[in-house]
Amino acid sequence: MNAPSDAGMTTKIVLLGTGTPITDPDRSGPSVAVVVGDMPYLVDLGPGVVRRASAAHQAGVRGLAVEKLKRAFITHLHSDHTVGYPDFIFTPWVLGRDEPAEVYGPPGVRAMTEHLLAAYEQDIHERRYGLEPSNDRGYQVNAHEIEPGVVYRDANVVVEAFPVKHGTWKAFGYKFTTPDRTIVLSGDTSPQETVIEAAMGCDVLIHEVYSSTAFEKIPPNGKRIIRPTIPRHAVWLRLPPRRDLAC
Ligand SMILES: [Zn+2]
Repeated sequence: MNAPSDAGMTTKIVLLGTGTPITDPDRSGPSVAVVVGDMPYLVDLGPGVVRRASAAHQAGVRGLAVEKLKRAFITHLHSDHTVGYPDFIFTPWVLGRDEPAEVYGPPGVRAMTEHLLAAYEQDIHERRYGLEPSNDRGYQVNAHEIEPGVVYRDANVVVEAFPVKHGTWKAFGYKFTTPDRTIVLSGDTSPQETVIEAAMGCDVLIHEVYSSTAFEKIPPNGKRIIRPTIPRHAVWLRLPPRRDLAC
């Protein structure tokens, strides 16, 4: 895999949300921004994603200006990873995004996108033809249903998807290769060789982790798909205390 060639690009990682379905007010829903130069690439769209991106922008991450939120990679379709999807579609549009969003994810992401656009049909109509007209492109979404392998490439980044095991979901982790970093995101997963393989030699691994305290709060049915077992060889990123990392 050849890395993108622009050596002048620097990469930032912003943990927009590190929460779970538990409504901890100090942790937004799962979402990570990989920002290469001034171009953001989001992984998962948990609740609060756009406002957390704005918080990071105000803290100095220029690439997270709301109208720049255009590309997202979904690990799986659990609601806590996707409740922010309509926010990602509509808020940047209302605030000036003037081109379609590009969203990559497992089978089902296209239907989810179509249903969301249908659910907000009246809002779209009002904003396009009412008294406060918005542009006619920024609410559109090109939803791409992916398979393992390279799923995206531009001048900043190559994105590879790899399968992970998360209950019966068809779920993915992602590997980002930028001019200066290799970043691997596990998404939600049980211990998996595919994650270890993808993470070998990477600069940063962002891996799902459950504390034993949080695990005890999960309903019994949820515990069946989450094993709080640390895979051998894995590198764990220490999350910041109390609040999601803003930059
Ligand atoms: Zn999940």
